[in-house]
Amino acid sequence: MSRTVYVNGEYLPEEEATVSIFDRGFLMADGVYEVTSVLGGKLIDFPGHAARLERSLNELEMAVPMSTEELLEVHRELVARNGIDEGLVYLQITRGNPGDRDFAFPPADTKPTVVLFTQSKPGLAANPVAQVGIKVISIPDIRWGRRDIKTVQLLYPSMAKMAAKKAHVDDAWFVEDGFVTEGTSNNVYIVKGGKIVTRDLSNDILHGITRAAVVRFAREAQMEVEERPFTIEEAQGADEAFFTSASAFVLPVVEIDGKAVGTGTPGPVAARLRELYLEESLKAAV
Ligand code: PLP
Repeated sequence: MSRTVYVNGEYLPEEEATVSIFDRGFLMADGVYEVTSVLGGKLIDFPGHAARLERSLNELEMAVPMSTEELLEVHRELVARNGIDEGLVYLQITRGNPGDRDFAFPPADTKPTVVLFTQSKPGLAANPVAQVGIKVISIPDIRWGRRDIKTVQLLYPSMAKMAAKKAHVDDAWFVEDGFVTEGTSNNVYIVKGGKIVTRDLSNDILHGITRAAVVRFAREAQMEVEERPFTIEEAQGADEAFFTSASAFVLPVVEIDGKAVGTGTPGPVAARLRELYLEESLKAAV
């Protein structure tokens, strides 16, 4: 069934939605995005995603095209029009269409391109992968140095995902200067002796909205969280490993580069955090 999507102020059937070939997003990957999950027809962590979007736009000197309230309205309208119970809302804003190709940014009054669409994912919260976990390989992190900005430059993460597929595993963890940065599209954690370790925030990783919530819920539940880099060897020797993202919430990692983590099965800390995250974020869903 055709979705209703949003393009520059209009709600359209997906077949009728178009963007210019001169769009800076298409020619230069000059755009930012957000993915917000939907559970029970409501948006999870919306204020966090809206705040990070504004930060990404500011860092790239792009105009903020609409208020948080207007953005929320479009999200809600799309969820309603497409009857989404569990799934995602994808949002992308680019520097717009200057009418030609040029490396220099177009004049500041060039209208940004704003696109949103939904993806229906029934069973998102009850994902059976939470019961078995995923396997990952490590791969050099050769992405650019501003990974804190959520840009649409996703070629290397796509290549990393393909490397994982070729290795018959589910995902890849990026490694830079001997330390794990993050997963292809998620933040990563290990657990040793009850303590949760995750890389500290910097320009080296995306400041995950799910990460912020999970770290907060863990601390509120009296779990110890240490924010520092760790190596693949340390992760392989941990009791548990897991990752977080808006579309996966919290999921266990049971094998890294062919070595089982802990017992090689999902551990109690990841399970508890998944439960806590789903419970608490649903309460705050809008
Ligand atoms: N790190 C990267 C590189 C990502 O692409 C993502 C999500 O797409 C995340 C981390 C997790 O961020 P969030 O929890 O806000 O989805």
